[in-house]
Amino acid sequence: MTYRITSRFLEQEPFRTRPHTGIDFAMPENTPLRSIKDGIVERVVDFGSSNIGKGVFIKWQDGKTAIYGHLSQITVKQGDIVQAGDLIGYSGNTGHSTGAHLHFAVKEGGRFIDPSPYIDFIQNMNNPSFLAKMQHASDTVTLNGTQFIQMISDTLSSIKFQFIHIFVGEVNYYTLLLQIMKKSFQFLACHTSFLYDILWSIF
Ligand SMILES: [Zn+2]
Repeated sequence: MTYRITSRFLEQEPFRTRPHTGIDFAMPENTPLRSIKDGIVERVVDFGSSNIGKGVFIKWQDGKTAIYGHLSQITVKQGDIVQAGDLIGYSGNTGHSTGAHLHFAVKEGGRFIDPSPYIDFIQNMNNPSFLAKMQHASDTVTLNGTQFIQMISDTLSSIKFQFIHIFVGEVNYYTLLLQIMKKSFQFLACHTSFLYDILWSIF
């Protein structure tokens, strides 16, 4: 299924008071809407008959936030962890809208960015074979796991190195502890945004 794009990013039709912040896809009401990447439901909104009406904000692991607007129904709640392909709601015609469509926007660092790189994902969100590929694409996240293993192995080899020093009499537990802490913080720093969201959703 290919949804007709009715408005592009930054387009300014006469009815708009500011340039378009996302991309509009015309689609029948109650089309299943799915997360296109792994992430966490950051916000669920209902602006009634204004703005994007019923909307879902999903924070991806890369820190960007995807926004789905004008939904008829939302099936997730704030704090829910979602994976690529998970149902988040159904398309509709709520909010400031002249016809059934999905408003899809992406925010990075508080600013709207061009969501064009994700058009194929939206066009194929209900295509199971594409979803499998998306799942494969999101598997690249495990590269971080590889980096984590590399970090542990680096730490272990530095411990081994320190251990040799212990045997030759140059004991420096302080440096050893500092190195382990430094490595741990480096790992945390790389993943803070997502870990923070997970912790935030738990507590
Ligand atoms: Zn729109």
